Amino acid sequence: MGSTATKPAALHHWIAGRADRGSSTRSGPVYDPASGNVIATLPYASEADVDRAVRAAARAAEGWAAMAPSGRARVLRRYLALLADSAEAVAAHITREQGKALDEAREELQCGLEALEAACGVSPLLEGRFSQGIGSDVDCYSLRQPLGIVAGVTPFDDPLMVPLWMYPLALACGNAFLLKPSERVPSAALLAADLLHAAGLPPGLLSVVNGDRETVEHLIAHPGIAAISFVGSTPAARGVYARGIAAGKRVQALGGAKNHAVVLPDADLSAAADCIVAAAYRAAGQRCTAVSVAVAVGEIADDFVAALVDRAQRLTVGRGLAPGTDVGPVTTGASRRCLELAIEAGVREGAKLVLDGRYDASERGFFVGPTVLDGVRPGMTVYDDELFGPVLAVVRVDSFDEALALIDANPFGNGAALFTRDGGAARAFQRRVGVGTVAINVACPTPIALHSFGGWKASLFGDLQIHGEDGVAFYTRTKVVTARWPARPQPGRLAADGSSPAAVLTR
Ligand code: NAD
Repeated sequence: MGSTATKPAALHHWIAGRADRGSSTRSGPVYDPASGNVIATLPYASEADVDRAVRAAARAAEGWAAMAPSGRARVLRRYLALLADSAEAVAAHITREQGKALDEAREELQCGLEALEAACGVSPLLEGRFSQGIGSDVDCYSLRQPLGIVAGVTPFDDPLMVPLWMYPLALACGNAFLLKPSERVPSAALLAADLLHAAGLPPGLLSVVNGDRETVEHLIAHPGIAAISFVGSTPAARGVYARGIAAGKRVQALGGAKNHAVVLPDADLSAAADCIVAAAYRAAGQRCTAVSVAVAVGEIADDFVAALVDRAQRLTVGRGLAPGTDVGPVTTGASRRCLELAIEAGVREGAKLVLDGRYDASERGFFVGPTVLDGVRPGMTVYDDELFGPVLAVVRVDSFDEALALIDANPFGNGAALFTRDGGAARAFQRRVGVGTVAINVACPTPIALHSFGGWKASLFGDLQIHGEDGVAFYTRTKVVTARWPARPQPGRLAADGSSPAAVLTR
């Protein structure tokens, strides 16, 4: 499946409204996962580059914050139109670096557009509360004001959508934003920044500073940045949260996931298998909402595993840009090796490999096909670790309560799904399950952007989820004003308390 190498492109940052090569000597490769070739080199932003972006943001932030929310929304609506018009080019950028099938890249773009559209309509959520006449000539009201400059750090799996969860809402709330996209898949964010400026965003309000962990540390340490939105793996999220809070910043840090889908004996097995296979293998399982554990309850387990394997083995693995591909490669060579080792460990630890997606070592692309391991239990590597690839673990349990206890004991709490025909079981599941995103007879979708999104336990550090009302709360702070404006006495008029003007003047 490999292809011939071409000269790597030289990528850039986006600072103060234009492409910028930065001042650092540090850089890293960007790969085409389908061939294993390096297709670009990416400069990693230095402390000075981050500082330049912060200064540009500070110059622009005051005017932007003072603009009416409707004026900011107009810029975002023009951006929405430009991004939708550029859908094919953006999707191709995503697929080239991330690996996912082109249709999945289009779907990612669509979800990102929905988040952007929600940000365009955020004005009502920015309104405060007004308490009239709480004392003599006194009103009390609250204002929501932007934080100033906010930074976002994003992962490699959805390189357009996850940044779109953040910066449109932050901008709509009146902030300036510095985005540090994943160093493995930077181009979609750069192209989007270009389009946002073409839509009329004043320079400096959105910068893209590329880099790795070291660049993130510069963002955390910069005193001009008020808050950090982070999405990535749990160890990184936990560290960014702790260091960001210690630096006096507001932080929301969304971490990893191990999403379980529970299938009760009364479920429509065929529909459940369709959903779970799509959720396990779409984007090669590299989605925070991917289902990585199927929990088969009771006597249906054999039939259900057969249904899963039947569907999974019919998926076409191939280059993301090739027509007909269902499952593209995983994004990095390191991820391919980790998945191969985890499958090997699963077998060694007693799981049954009923579908093996491993490729021959001679394959240069980062391919791992749909894999199913049956008889998995907590304590096995394939259960305990977030594998973030097309490997589905099947755990067999005897009862609904045992399935819930399994999910409860798992350190992650991003999402969980239930498949059943029993409404009472569904209601009990949604009430009792300890995760942030619940799915009933669908497999763990990201909720539409009017709702907030984020996990519980080790899947989210911080108090507020991303987008929706929580997102607005995160990107704004509240100011409460108590104001007295005594009525000015005018000749011939009664004062507010009914006394004559003369009485008022002598008070
Ligand atoms: P990652 O943690 O390796 O990297 C995420 C971002 O953080 C990147 O921009 C990276 O440069 C930076 N980074 C990496 N290590 C860091 C560190 N130690 N300190 C500071 N910054 C660091 O994650 P990834 O491999 O790019 O993405 C996959 C992970 O993201 C998975 O764990 C997945 O579950 C998670 N994810 C979660 C959600 C969610 O909504 N909870 C959504 C998408 C992805």
